Amino acid sequence: MEKKSDPSTRIFDLLQFGEYGDVNPSVTDSATYTFLEAKTMSDTFAGKQEGCYLYSRHWNPSNKYLSDALAALEGTESAWVTASGMAAITTAILQLVNSGDHIVSSMTIYGGTFAFLNNYLKKFNIDVTFVNITDFEEVKNAIRPNTKLIYTETMTNPMLQISDIPALAKIANEKGIKLAVDNTFTPMIVSPALLGAHIVIHSLTKFINGKNDCVAGAVCGTKDYINSLCDVNSGTAMLLGPSLDPLRSSSILKNMHTLHIRMKQHSLNAAYLADKFRTAGFKVNYPGMTDNPGHETLKKIMNEGFGFGGMFTIDVETSEKANKLMEKMETEQVGYLAVSLGYFKTLFSNSGKSTSSEVPEEIQHKMGLPEGLIRFSVGLDNDIELTWKRIEKCLDVLNV
Ligand SMILES: *Cc1c(COP(=O)(O)O)cnc(C)c1O
Repeated sequence: MEKKSDPSTRIFDLLQFGEYGDVNPSVTDSATYTFLEAKTMSDTFAGKQEGCYLYSRHWNPSNKYLSDALAALEGTESAWVTASGMAAITTAILQLVNSGDHIVSSMTIYGGTFAFLNNYLKKFNIDVTFVNITDFEEVKNAIRPNTKLIYTETMTNPMLQISDIPALAKIANEKGIKLAVDNTFTPMIVSPALLGAHIVIHSLTKFINGKNDCVAGAVCGTKDYINSLCDVNSGTAMLLGPSLDPLRSSSILKNMHTLHIRMKQHSLNAAYLADKFRTAGFKVNYPGMTDNPGHETLKKIMNEGFGFGGMFTIDVETSEKANKLMEKMETEQVGYLAVSLGYFKTLFSNSGKSTSSEVPEEIQHKMGLPEGLIRFSVGLDNDIELTWKRIEKCLDVLNV
């Protein structure tokens, strides 16, 4: 029987080709579009005419192709692509909240998102309560009459907590509010919208593009919600203008067609290295391990066949030790000491001093983020046993 729920098949089944039958859709190289009749233009502006392109900040054919592929990936009606993951996050949230509203957010989230929620939204008198997203009582108790949104990441950065999306969606629906989920760490592996999330956000910069050659993002949701983002009078996307360049859209679209294969390999390699680190006596956090606090939840919500993801962390106690180990691993060609993730080479960084440095130290302690945490985004290495041998050569630096 056909597996209807397989995200890679949903992308595979899209019929997208260029105007001359070119197998890759043509690339939009225009900011504006001609109309043969003036009335069609005014109808398009009024939102009464579908299928016409007006201006590339609003919509353009290349961005539409990529958006359709992302909507297929996530099983949503629609999507809109942005110039970065942060643009997707800020656009999605600003469309939903007004001055005086309140948001409940997972405490462990990407550092930039934390800074936006904690610092930037103060400008608009929007309050945010940060909670342990795996504690449903805490989530429920944080909701106020003016709460508009529950915000989380499927697999949180960098603690790799797993959000129980069906349970959170139930809480949101009972209160008549929205659940927005950043699915950047787990494309293919989890389909939040099919589990009840109202909005799914991606930094395409990471696994989805997978080449580290650009930054980009996406918001996926209902047709009504995505149309509201693009409304010429009130749409956050239209009015703040974080549109993705269509040349980039076209290159990201091609990379999406290898995403399912890449996710499998990232997962296989991460599981292998996580296990080796544990056997060598390290404290390891990998949701694929059966005794991991998020393991059962992830098993419950995941799509089959893509593994448990390419991310794991180890704790080497101090940032000095973390730095020594990372420098040595770079020298031994394990990968790069760099932020970001989802690249074909392994990337590692000390979260507390890099991608989570926006999170104040006291909150880092509260969320249990150890100073010596090294986050690995494991690459596509064909010989992962060799990679472990290289890592083994580096471990001595921790003993001096
Ligand atoms: C990187 C990242 C972002 C931000 O995306 P950019 O493309 O860098 O703007 C948001 N959320 C998560 C989970 C990320 O890893």
